[in-house]
Amino acid sequence: MSRPLPRPTADTRHFWDGCATGELRYQRCAHCGEVQLIPRSLCSACQHADLEWHRSGGQGRVLSYTVVHRAPTPAFKDETPYIIALVDMSEGFRLMVNVRGGGATPLAIGQSVRIGFREIEGMALPEAQVLE
Ligand SMILES: [Zn+2]
Repeated sequence: MSRPLPRPTADTRHFWDGCATGELRYQRCAHCGEVQLIPRSLCSACQHADLEWHRSGGQGRVLSYTVVHRAPTPAFKDETPYIIALVDMSEGFRLMVNVRGGGATPLAIGQSVRIGFREIEGMALPEAQVLE
């Protein structure tokens, strides 16, 4: 069974194109300054459509995480255990992301991570790497 992958839409294509070139991109509202990721056509704070794309420096801290021991579908059974983390990025947006190294990775709330990319079936997906 092949792994389900994200399907870029008109709103998210620029984000996924960035991943393919090693850039983590996010949106900032030119009207109110709010930053957001998941990409949308409107600002999640003020609903203006005047959104700009920016490149993240890739630095963040773990807000929370979970270790997945039971695969949600057969496509993930060879990957368990793995970690999914919520990461607060230094630019102010929040990212849900897999953690490199799987379930054996030592991780803690507040841990510094850097976002890199992992290629799966031709698609670059963000993943967090623990910083010492
Ligand atoms: Zn706004």
